[in-house]
Amino acid sequence: MPIRGVLFDVDDTLFDYSGSERAGILAHLRHLDLLRRVPDPQTAVALWREVLDEQYARFLAGELTFTGQQRERVRRFLARLGEDTAAMPDEAATAWFAGYTAHRDAAWTAFPDAAPVLAALAPTHRLGIVSNAPMDQQRPKLHATGLLHHFADTALVGSDRPGEAKPAPAIFLTGCARLGLPPHEVAYVGDRYDLDALGARGAGLRPFWLDRAASRTPVDDGIHVLHTLAELPAALRT
Ligand SMILES: [Mg+2]
Repeated sequence: MPIRGVLFDVDDTLFDYSGSERAGILAHLRHLDLLRRVPDPQTAVALWREVLDEQYARFLAGELTFTGQQRERVRRFLARLGEDTAAMPDEAATAWFAGYTAHRDAAWTAFPDAAPVLAALAPTHRLGIVSNAPMDQQRPKLHATGLLHHFADTALVGSDRPGEAKPAPAIFLTGCARLGLPPHEVAYVGDRYDLDALGARGAGLRPFWLDRAASRTPVDDGIHVLHTLAELPAALRT
């Protein structure tokens, strides 16, 4: 059965989320003259990521609000750089975080292989998005990076409610319904093996795992591996 539709993940699949985060924190630290507090930029990026993971987990566990985890990320990160942040007011932490997001959003970029693959597939395939983030967050990224016009607005599916996110089948099936196709005629492309590849397979779509790092992890039956999006059009024909 030929594949007639393709659904894509956004962050770290079409959109270089990790790259914009890295550029954003480094630009913000440079602006505040804080880069000298770390041995090298990579250490700062790794530390920022570590603090993000810790505090975002507390948000997911219901311990912190969304803005509360942003403020805690700022306090913990600066504490690790040697600042005394115990008494840092909420307003100051919020302002620091806003400075970071301004730098990060200025660094928004798509991967260079994203626009060409969408242009190549558009004449022959119905294209859509299935993302675990709300579309209010994802639509501006796709617009700013020149990718939004490849998708009908009805083909953009985000997750706004817990329990309806990838890897649960429902969100993939919603994406297929929005394309007007049954799951076995739809491919899904994403960078997360668990959420994207295994999730799509579980919902009956044809799963393509985008392994940009070429990590060569052994994959399960039925999972197709891509190292770049440029490989996708040929892979869909086989
Ligand atoms: Mg992703």
